[in-house]
Amino acid sequence: MRLSFLGTAAGQPSRERNVTALILAKDDSRDWYLIDCGEGTQHRLLGNRYTLNHLQVICVTHVHGDHMFGLPGLITSASMQGRQAPLIICAPEGVESFVRHALACAAVHEMSFELKFIRSDRADFRYLTVDFTITSHPLSHRVPCFAYAFEEHPESGNLEREKLQQLKVPRGPLWGLLQQGQAIILPDGRIIMPEAVKEPSPKPRLVVIGGDNDRPEILHEILTRTDLLVHEATFSTPVREKVGGQWMHSTPAQVGKAAEAAGVKHVILTHFSNRYQRRPKPGQSSIEELRAEVQAVYSGTVAMAADNCSWQLQRDGTLVEV
Ligand SMILES: [Zn+2]
Repeated sequence: MRLSFLGTAAGQPSRERNVTALILAKDDSRDWYLIDCGEGTQHRLLGNRYTLNHLQVICVTHVHGDHMFGLPGLITSASMQGRQAPLIICAPEGVESFVRHALACAAVHEMSFELKFIRSDRADFRYLTVDFTITSHPLSHRVPCFAYAFEEHPESGNLEREKLQQLKVPRGPLWGLLQQGQAIILPDGRIIMPEAVKEPSPKPRLVVIGGDNDRPEILHEILTRTDLLVHEATFSTPVREKVGGQWMHSTPAQVGKAAEAAGVKHVILTHFSNRYQRRPKPGQSSIEELRAEVQAVYSGTVAMAADNCSWQLQRDGTLVEV
């Protein structure tokens, strides 16, 4: 599973970071999923391998502008490019109304494709695609806000050629039946069970992508099965103590503790206050302060998101920057 960050700033853009948007794709697939769509997201897509024609689903975490003001522009561009397939938008209450009003006010009365909204703030929300099962998980923020879990469908293991040859299973349709998980009877009467000649199924990968949230521990249940958590870490603990909790954001230490308690293997932090710089000048705060804070309490892999950076959660469960 590949994640490409288009925007990683909290609240408003800076020179080095745009507001929130994240691409998720199944490995090398050109089909993709967009999680949040801050203003300017369509600019960040230019020159990217992902096109609006191959966009499958947009998931919106909450109604704040830095997470959805990019929707009307992106949707209108997809129509100008002649997209045909319906576009699914999974979002809490308010997002559909915002988008439809914006399009109506801009006199966009006809589009080349259908927009379909699905309310993700319902307890039974679950959306199945070719690649993933998507579920939503409530967070703690100033407005209703949700994390999205993307879980791969289980895949069956590959046939082990050596074992097939040892058991003298003739190459051909019988191999196909075994790959499909069926038992077979050989001409000499022996019965071969698929488990005897197949590698174990790979564990489906599960990625959780949070929205804004000041209590990462409320994701504990889903995090116990999660390989990779993408979560906001807007302020360091000292800054959060100074500014107070009214913005309802997390610190890196909070995210690290929640991930450690649930046994999550990898964490990517994002949605940083613009006071943190990647290359700070004297007197400025460094993004490395946030990294140090999470690493002090969390033993898994930590990555700090940056615009136009991508990571791959590989089949063997390792996380690599690509
Ligand atoms: Zn935000």
